[in-house]
Amino acid sequence: RPLWVGITGGIGSGKSTVAKIFRLLGIPVYSSDDRAKWLMANDSELKSQISTVFGEESYLPDGAVNRAFLAENAFSDRSKVTQINALVHPAVGRDFRAWAENQTSPYLLKEAALLFETGAVRELDKVINVSSPLKIRVARTLMRDPHRDETQVNQIIDQQMPDEEKNELADFVIKNTDNKLLIPQVLEIHRKLCEGAN
Ligand code: ATP
Repeated sequence: RPLWVGITGGIGSGKSTVAKIFRLLGIPVYSSDDRAKWLMANDSELKSQISTVFGEESYLPDGAVNRAFLAENAFSDRSKVTQINALVHPAVGRDFRAWAENQTSPYLLKEAALLFETGAVRELDKVINVSSPLKIRVARTLMRDPHRDETQVNQIIDQQMPDEEKNELADFVIKNTDNKLLIPQVLEIHRKLCEGAN
């Protein structure tokens, strides 16, 4: 089977950008964030779990996620966030495994902001951490998400494992500081993973 490779990195590190480069090389990429959103809207088991824990109002009459309600009730305090994650993370895990079974490339990527933090790393063969200096990460995130302010971005950073720790735990580190050096780093890792998978 393909090697299962995680690609992670803190907010604004550039992991989605790096994942796009791997996609261009033909590597299948599973985006945990996108799939989590999709599953919340479409997976009947997860939907019924969310409705049971947070109430029927979690979904609108047409079945769509009631984002405003969940933002107020599920994403507002830490203990509620833990509760919703306890439902969403296992659903993403199941969905990822089902997807991974159908891939035939030498390796595949699971992209997620939290891989070490959730323990998802345990089922992966290798992990890549995308690493960038804090200042750059804050600046990139503020440019991309104008609705956020610096305090909010720093709060998210404080909830994630520090970059240095992730670099220690990762098998590969991509330094996304200088654009010129980004693609050569991706190609080098791609080569190693293709060899390792043979
Ligand atoms: P999140 O965890 O918030 O999803 P991320 O790690 O996936 O973040 P990206 O969305 O890839 O990060 O990058 C954040 C922003 O920074 C994006 O707008 C992206 O275009 C930009 N960016 C990423 N890498 C670079 C780079 N090397 N040079 C310039 N801009 C970059």
